[in-house]
Amino acid sequence: MKKDTKVFNLIRKEKQRQMGGIELIASENFVSDQVLKAMGSVMTNKYAEGYPGKRYYGGCQIVDQTEQIAIDRAGELFQAKFVNVQPHSGAQANMAVLMACLQPGDTFMGLDLSHGGHLSHGSPVNSSGILYKPVAYEVNRETGRVDYDDMEKKVAQYKPKLIIAGASAYSRDWDYARMRKAADSVGAILMADISHPAGLIARGILNDPLEYCHIVTTTTHKTLRGPRGGMIMMREDFPNPWGLTTPKGEIKMMSALLNSAVFPGVQGGPLEHVIASKAVAFGEALSDEYFEYILQVKKNAAAMAKAFTDRGYNIISGGTDNHLMLIDLRSKFPEITGKMVENTLVQADITVNKNMVPFDSRSPFQTSGLRVGTPAITTRGLKEDMMEPIVDMIDDVISHIDDTKKLEAVKEKVNAMMAEYPLFAW
Ligand SMILES: *Cc1c(COP(=O)(O)O)cnc(C)c1O
Repeated sequence: MKKDTKVFNLIRKEKQRQMGGIELIASENFVSDQVLKAMGSVMTNKYAEGYPGKRYYGGCQIVDQTEQIAIDRAGELFQAKFVNVQPHSGAQANMAVLMACLQPGDTFMGLDLSHGGHLSHGSPVNSSGILYKPVAYEVNRETGRVDYDDMEKKVAQYKPKLIIAGASAYSRDWDYARMRKAADSVGAILMADISHPAGLIARGILNDPLEYCHIVTTTTHKTLRGPRGGMIMMREDFPNPWGLTTPKGEIKMMSALLNSAVFPGVQGGPLEHVIASKAVAFGEALSDEYFEYILQVKKNAAAMAKAFTDRGYNIISGGTDNHLMLIDLRSKFPEITGKMVENTLVQADITVNKNMVPFDSRSPFQTSGLRVGTPAITTRGLKEDMMEPIVDMIDDVISHIDDTKKLEAVKEKVNAMMAEYPLFAW
């Protein structure tokens, strides 16, 4: 077969792009060589519909073992008795949980998208908002933190069957205990989607959602630093609360409902190459080096938040407990949108993403906010002392947003700085 130079040249260029820039997108990371290798392996050739030991295809004796290692390591990482590592993505993990717990038309609750929630928590353009009836809770306008009083009122009023904790653009920890109380008051299932802070939670830096939430979903490619994918977990299995029974008349356990919601509910054959790679990544996440890494992620985020605040930027909620922060540009630059900043910074090889801020006066296409995070630059080996220089460069670009000479100068500085760091420094 002729080598596909067209595509491989682009892959080479993408690697150069990643090497040369400062990656501040809070949901991105750089994986290790062994995580990458497992993903690009012959495991992709195998069909394995079903679960380890219960497949619909022959020849699964090896992939059964890699999938079991992934399950066991995730179980150890999160102290979870039930793990399903097959969801192709975070959104699909969530779709499966909703399918297992709700009937079309049922009411559930999630954090408002413009307040930091995720599309798969009830957006009208996502299956969660099309098939079910979402009710959104919000953050408090003054504190920027989840308004648990408002949430409790809405729980009492709407009696949701399921409540989702978790967000994509929220820099504070969660009060899972309080949410569990609210869920119990109406017999709702409490689910946490820890896609973003999963790595910090795994290593005990944030509150443990598995202690209070019936079901926990996550992506594997954000702070967890694995391949692109999703996962569903429970600390303990439990009988489904709706009295669904098996053909033999036994009450179905939640684990069985979740497994069949993933396959055949929303997916076909699992990606065994990605699952092998998840197993490798979970092994890494259990290591001492990873613990050091994830501590550094948090230290870097705190240093970065301070640097932005010192330069007059308004961070929603006043700071961060995790790996990211949401910046409201309006206090320092009332005329400049998140979109303008994202588009300008990318020309200086600094990647961030525009983001709605709570109670935003602009549309999701413009936005007044910027989301930045430290997981990726920390993987490259950057420490706290580099956060001020980075924020200075960002501030320089925003302060001179139409100055192309300035932009060119910052880009050169960025490229020179990042030339000293490998993609994966650990
Ligand atoms: C990133 C994210 C997801 C979706 O993950 P995909 O793998 O992109 O589908 C779901 N929920 C939350 C809270 C996220 O941040």
